[in-house]
Amino acid sequence: MEPTAVPTPPGPRKRARLGPRLLAAIVLASTLAALLATGVQLWLDYRGQVTELDRRFQQAERAYVPALAASLWALDAAQIQRQLNGLLALPDVAYVKVEGRVGEHFSAGNPDAVGLRSQVFSLRSPADAQAELGTLTVGLGLADIYARLWDRALIIVATQFAKTAAVALFILYLVRLWITRHLERMASHACSLQVDALERPLMLDRAPSVQPDELDDVVRALNEMSHRLGAALHEREQVQAELRAHRDHLEALVAHRTAELRDAKDRAESASQAKSAFLAHMSHELRTPLNAILGYAQLLRMGGGLNERQATGLETIRHSGEHLLALVVDVLDLARIEAGRAELQPARIDLRAFLRGLDAMVRLRADEKGLQFGVKADAELPQHWTADETRLRQVLLNLLGNAVKFTDTGRVDLIVRVVERSSQSCIVEFEVHDTGAGIPPEDLERIFEPFEQFGDAPGRSAGTGLGLAISQRLVHQMGGALTVTSRVGQGSTFKFRIDGTLPPG
Ligand code: ADP
Repeated sequence: MEPTAVPTPPGPRKRARLGPRLLAAIVLASTLAALLATGVQLWLDYRGQVTELDRRFQQAERAYVPALAASLWALDAAQIQRQLNGLLALPDVAYVKVEGRVGEHFSAGNPDAVGLRSQVFSLRSPADAQAELGTLTVGLGLADIYARLWDRALIIVATQFAKTAAVALFILYLVRLWITRHLERMASHACSLQVDALERPLMLDRAPSVQPDELDDVVRALNEMSHRLGAALHEREQVQAELRAHRDHLEALVAHRTAELRDAKDRAESASQAKSAFLAHMSHELRTPLNAILGYAQLLRMGGGLNERQATGLETIRHSGEHLLALVVDVLDLARIEAGRAELQPARIDLRAFLRGLDAMVRLRADEKGLQFGVKADAELPQHWTADETRLRQVLLNLLGNAVKFTDTGRVDLIVRVVERSSQSCIVEFEVHDTGAGIPPEDLERIFEPFEQFGDAPGRSAGTGLGLAISQRLVHQMGGALTVTSRVGQGSTFKFRIDGTLPPG
């Protein structure tokens, strides 16, 4: 079991905590609401107090206008001043002034008081209501109103703040009691969960509720999750154990099979070596008496004096002997190639001279059959090139020999072209094309198998059925691949490419 990293809960002081954030939000919202409510309340108060000022004007008019008119009538300056002082003592009155018709002037208070609102009353003669003696100006200031409103505002804000603080602290206490301490417990439970004790359920530290609330839901979900986790881990362990068992079994099986295969390979190798040794030995054993047979047949023919029947018999002996010899040579060759003992000997060759030699050898046989023959060499063909000349000649002679052998009319061509040339090497393609009998598609696959011969071409019996098998293996050994395309009645094309190095310079 690989170790499971156990996360530790973040330190309690290092993170933003729910309670204080809740408190801050409540205080902020409540303060904004309180400010708004206080503002509205103060505005209404202000409006009320301003209305109250009108009553003050009426009060002043009722109480002082007749008395002041009498004093002005009597021209009693001291009395007027006293009455003005009395008027000034009334609440909100900031400034008073009496102006007589003939220029008398009395005043008290401050004419520049804050927010002064004035009203003018006319002072009429007690004897004749029509005669105006002068005017009384009463100025009411707002300074008192402002002071009262300020006091009220302070009281409202202070009580609101106290209420808010009390409610917030209480909520904080409840949040802690009902929620956050349980959340912390859940977090530490989840963090300290042990892989081998996953099924230990979490219990909250509180009296069980009659009806489950959200916390109970979370606890239940948490417990179910760790239960499922435990089951899954258990299952995984079982699967791992099974996998381990399978792997061990598989390893044993593979080791066993490998040993078997190695044995089989060893057996096959020694069988193949034995086969090659046997073939080489047999070829040698066969060639010696064959050469004797062929030699004596030759001597008998040269001695002459044979009747026609004897001459035909001797010719059959010679012909069969030569075929047998060719077969033995080919078998030996194939056996050596398959045993990997036919090492190539690449050397510098003069390509054009090489092609001229081939031309001379094949042209003779083509002429005998009345076939056209041509060697078409690419003008860019390098003069010198590196290849195993003997083996390349063997392959091309075999392909050209077949082409002549299986073609009765038309022509046989050897086409040699440069496919790719660099400063160091050159890929040359050799193509042998004929207009002969062609090979049926169903035989195309098998012509490279040893001893496969098809059709009933007259020259067929002369072959060993090994030429293409040997050619294909030789081309492969030279780094190429021998391919064939053919259409019955139209002819065949054999092709391969060889990459040979170029001599320096
Ligand atoms: P063989 O010694 O019989 O020529 P090969 O291995 O060279 O043996 O060829 C195998 C068979 O492939 C031939 O017997 C013939 O049926 C067929 N074959 C090869 N070359 C040609 C060709 N150019 N045209 C038609 N058939 C061919």
